Amino acid sequence: MPDVLDHARRQVLEHGTGLGRADVLAVLELPDQRLPEALQLAHEVRMRWCGPEVEVEGIVSVKTGGCPEDCHFCSQSGLFTSPVRSVWLDIPSLVEAARQTAATGASEFCIVAAVRGPDERLMSQLRDGVRAIRDEVEINIAASLGMLTRQQVDELVAMGVHRYNHNLETARSFFPRVVTTHTWQERWDTLRMVRDSGMEVCCGGILGLGESLAQRAEFAAELAALGPHEVPLNFLNPRPGTPLAGRPLVEARDALRAIAAFRLALPRTILRYAGGREITLGDLGTRDGLLGGVNAVIVGNYLTTLGRPAAADLALLDELKMPVKALSATL
Ligand code: SF4
Repeated sequence: MPDVLDHARRQVLEHGTGLGRADVLAVLELPDQRLPEALQLAHEVRMRWCGPEVEVEGIVSVKTGGCPEDCHFCSQSGLFTSPVRSVWLDIPSLVEAARQTAATGASEFCIVAAVRGPDERLMSQLRDGVRAIRDEVEINIAASLGMLTRQQVDELVAMGVHRYNHNLETARSFFPRVVTTHTWQERWDTLRMVRDSGMEVCCGGILGLGESLAQRAEFAAELAALGPHEVPLNFLNPRPGTPLAGRPLVEARDALRAIAAFRLALPRTILRYAGGREITLGDLGTRDGLLGGVNAVIVGNYLTTLGRPAAADLALLDELKMPVKALSATL
């Protein structure tokens, strides 16, 4: 069998065609001494098919905690004892958060709510919030509100929401082990409606939930089949009170192997570091990831945990000579 990285060099780097499931698994199983080579190739693929720009995004939570679903990794579920308070954010605070995000140079501002799907109250709040932000701040608005009906998809398009985030979280075959209140298929159905509506699709997940390497490869192949515009990659940050509180962190080397493998599966996708990178990889890992296929970062705080300060990320991008993707390029 040809070496998987030689094969990836031809198929992915030269032709821009992502690796399939078996090859992704081979990358995930590479020995440690080949990790630098895999990261270097992933970086070349990113530079060739996406360019040097890094997309910077901010997120704000309009409704935190108290979610009726039971995703075992999530401290926002109201079914566990995690110490996350249920809070609603008002419109002026939302506009202020968008303004602060835009001031960092970010081009995307994502409004997030911890819900199974939006009810009329949330949709109406979003309508007002999106209008207020569009009136006052120049930034693309994204939303993440759980599972949608077709009518809600149409409403979001009409509001001018530019991207919708909904994570598949993990491989279809593993999903029932970590979520029992809804199915992977329900998430997939929402994603297909969003994709067909013309909104950009942002869809990723969390590694380190107990899935096997084969299931990580399955997940990468499922994402590739969806073809999202952006893939946020999280690493489990085990939260107190959740069923996965006792799980070990993903080893830094395995996390970096996964970053390289997902980039080789998704050569043209914006691959974003999301939650868990600080605790899994530390500051050095942020650099390794950006030199190993990652081309988007979240600035500021995550939903329930504190991220690195925006200035540290922006200084790192400057040092790596990776320009922040400009807003005009994404409109
Ligand atoms: S991941 Fe989303 S749907 Fe699941 S419990 Fe957390 S907020 Fe709710």
